[in-house]
Amino acid sequence: MIPRNRRIIDPAAIESNMRLIRSSVPAAVRVLAVVKADGYGHGAVETAHAAIAGGADMLAVAAVSEGIQLREAGITAPVLVLGAVTACDAANGVKYDLIQTVCSDEMVLLCEKAAAEQQKQTEVHLKVDTGMGRIGIRSEAERDGILQALKSCSHVRLAGVFTHFSDADGEEEGMLYTREQYERFLKMIEPLPKGIIRHCCNSAAIHRFPEMALDMVRAGISLYGYPPVPGTRGLLPCMSWKATISYVKELEADAYVSYGRTYRSPHPIRTATITCGYADGYHRAGGEKGYVLIHGKKAKIIGRICMDQMIADISGIENVQPGDEAVLLGTSGNESITAEDLAAWAGTISYEILCSSSGRVGRIYKEAEQERRK
Ligand SMILES: *Cc1c(COP(=O)(O)O)cnc(C)c1O
Repeated sequence: MIPRNRRIIDPAAIESNMRLIRSSVPAAVRVLAVVKADGYGHGAVETAHAAIAGGADMLAVAAVSEGIQLREAGITAPVLVLGAVTACDAANGVKYDLIQTVCSDEMVLLCEKAAAEQQKQTEVHLKVDTGMGRIGIRSEAERDGILQALKSCSHVRLAGVFTHFSDADGEEEGMLYTREQYERFLKMIEPLPKGIIRHCCNSAAIHRFPEMALDMVRAGISLYGYPPVPGTRGLLPCMSWKATISYVKELEADAYVSYGRTYRSPHPIRTATITCGYADGYHRAGGEKGYVLIHGKKAKIIGRICMDQMIADISGIENVQPGDEAVLLGTSGNESITAEDLAAWAGTISYEILCSSSGRVGRIYKEAEQERRK
């Protein structure tokens, strides 16, 4: 059964985006595919497979639980956990051969203890905070403490070091700040052993600061087809989102629609009720400005988005029937709605649109959708 509210994912587009990113950096630079948050809503396992097919060398997740999901699906590629290692997760991180992130000598010792207990070797990357103000060491004293702690560890190997840019997609000032972060990073890593993987670029920096690629780059949003900065060509969106029209009716002039009576029909209109609301991850704030696509035409959303339903004005659209599809994200005829459009309507960013789908929304992969249409 095809879910009446579904996000449709195109793994071939993910693979193609990875190829494009891969070809945009020197061959010696590794490319890491960020598949945290269930692959930005595209499905972590399917995204990982597509990214590897497209040339990814490594994967990254936010938490150990996400890494375990990849391992249980049989994925053997190196997996970096971007979040700082925690006492409750360290043992599983070792057990599932995940590369964990450390930013204190205590964290190094947590990994050492877990690995020694399991009689295994484990790898860690050191996180440096060069101006994001999140996790990571900020001082050379902390760095030296960690290097000291590592000397006493026979089960932990420092395999990499990284930092994260906070404003690589920003305007002029953001670009200056990114350069400062990069300089701080180079200074901090200078005394580290040679041969470890140094990485700092997210999607925006990959495109804007190719000179900062170092040994590896980390591609998130661009892998999913959304250029983080204007002028990035050839990336393909990989997700569309469709719901179903459940009801069609005529409304007289001066009729109110939805909660709070924020919409009142100026003249008689025809409406469609659609099986998607904020509990499905459609941003309630986006309703006032947004539209959906029905039969290749824009249908303005009227009234507030409800928990499970929304209403659109279909006055100008012929022959709309219950059971017809409404495109919330993606293409219909010559029209299309991007995650950036949805984000602008809702006052957020494309990232949040992609990963905000709720468990009630079905996820299907492109081949399955095409199969259904035959
Ligand atoms: C999420 C994340 C990324 C990916 O960022 P994009 O902007 O999506 O490319 C890279 N590095 C770290 C540390 C992250 O947390």
